[in-house]
Amino acid sequence: MQTPEIGLSKRTKYIFVTGGVLSGIGKGVVVGSVAKLLSLYGLKISSAKIDPYINVDAGTMNPIIHGEVFVTDDGGETDMDLGTYERFLNQNLSRKHNITTGQIYLGVIQAERRGDFLGQCVQIIPHVTDAIKHQIRKIAETEESKSDRPGEVILVECGGTVGDIESLPFLEAIRQMRLEEGAENTLFIHVTLAPILQAVGEEKTKPTQHSVQELRRIGIQPDIIVVRSEKELSLDSKRKISLFTSVELDSIISNPDSPSIYHVPENLYRDGIISAIGAKLKLPVRGMSWGGWRDVSNSFSSAAFRNEVIIGLVGKYVSLADSYVSVNHALSHAGAYQNAFVKVEWIDSGEFEKNLLSLDTLERYHGILIPGGFGKRGSEGKILAANYARERSIPFLGLCFGFQLALVSFARHVCDIRDAHSTELNPDTNNPVVDLLPSQREVGEMGASMRLGGHDIKIEEGTLAHQIYGTYDIRQRHRHRYEFALKYLEIFEKNGMNLTAFSDNGRRAEILEVSSHPFYMATQYHPEFVSRPGSPEPVFKSFVKAAVERKRPSISIPQSTDS
Ligand code: GLN
Repeated sequence: MQTPEIGLSKRTKYIFVTGGVLSGIGKGVVVGSVAKLLSLYGLKISSAKIDPYINVDAGTMNPIIHGEVFVTDDGGETDMDLGTYERFLNQNLSRKHNITTGQIYLGVIQAERRGDFLGQCVQIIPHVTDAIKHQIRKIAETEESKSDRPGEVILVECGGTVGDIESLPFLEAIRQMRLEEGAENTLFIHVTLAPILQAVGEEKTKPTQHSVQELRRIGIQPDIIVVRSEKELSLDSKRKISLFTSVELDSIISNPDSPSIYHVPENLYRDGIISAIGAKLKLPVRGMSWGGWRDVSNSFSSAAFRNEVIIGLVGKYVSLADSYVSVNHALSHAGAYQNAFVKVEWIDSGEFEKNLLSLDTLERYHGILIPGGFGKRGSEGKILAANYARERSIPFLGLCFGFQLALVSFARHVCDIRDAHSTELNPDTNNPVVDLLPSQREVGEMGASMRLGGHDIKIEEGTLAHQIYGTYDIRQRHRHRYEFALKYLEIFEKNGMNLTAFSDNGRRAEILEVSSHPFYMATQYHPEFVSRPGSPEPVFKSFVKAAVERKRPSISIPQSTDS
């Protein structure tokens, strides 16, 4: 049955989110938060990201420069904002939800080569803009076909900052969409920053005014402006922005710093974003049903934390936390769930190799995590750290590359296979305990060619993995070219490391664990991609629990002195 109380026409409604002033002011969090609010409001919501770069997807980009490559269940290698949306919406997205200039141009040029344009001169307007609109509408179609009710709201974030050359065709396409879909079916939210000038302690609205001018020059008049600022935006500033941008006063929404990103939906709600959106898109204004969301967001307040645990993240890309953004979130979800604050410290594994840092420095951590990675640099340091954590009974979690290097470390230090290696790091090793996946032997191109996305995994009975997950069947996301060579299984198990979960009918090892250790586990898959606030991924939850236990001081019974 349809749900008339939602009051939507059959048409999908689009909310386009642009950014001004600076990059990195949390546009993705605004999109995620608005999506969350609208979903709590009872609407079927989806969100998509436009990335104006020429890469076809994020998979070929260096995470130091561009941040983490987020992997969707259908194997898309996408921008990390999709991770933000998935975490807010608690919903899986697909590769279709990330549109790039590369995909658009590739499609247009392939069509031109096929002769689809019948002799026309192929141009940015209308051919490229048409292709963009087609891609955006395709997302709506997919959502509609999944949905049992008419009408959905799709949030589309335009990457970059207004004024960038690269994003012009996208802005032009969404400008046209307002014309084609109608004012009641399209909404423009512009996200800006009001910096505080320290000398006068006053927030400045001029950059916002200028970026709106830039947007209007392109032909887009924003309907709502969300202003990031350190504190709540003053009424004076709101009035000034409203006057100079022609945006109604109650559509200037303050987005102040908050204890965690999960508080942003409540902040935006309090400042009236839902009423503003509802009025413009003609959505009926109804009471919100927060469900359990407030408990979830409150669990991320510092007041909720009884413990602080320090996790040492041993990696190569330590210079930029964005490279491991989902790992950070998964740790914080696991922490908040059990009243613990997880502080992450980055350790450059290369320093262990060069003897610039002693392995003993790892002793102070409540847990050690080796995340995913590629290539030789820093890998020997990670192998040493994996061994140290095992020998010194420090809770340990290895993810993908971390799983592979934990295998190498165990082979060398426990199974006495001294020259054990991964063929990614030494193609000529006599003992390739980690070797290329058979499917990777013929790979010619770098893009989208790894073993990617969700695969079903079977967990074995009587294992820690089974205890943690409480089930024999899980589905997890992957992004790798190498894997454990099963011919070493017997010798590993004889020496106390068990491979406890497998995919592809037992052909691929997915989880390793060491008994007689407080917590030593590693996964070939990336559990961080499916962790959500309020429902942390089970492996992360158990790892953080073990870290909390390591921290807890052992109970000492005071000695009586008066005997
Ligand atoms: N480099 C390793 C592989 O390709 C691990 C990849 C990863 O950690 N994502 O298999």
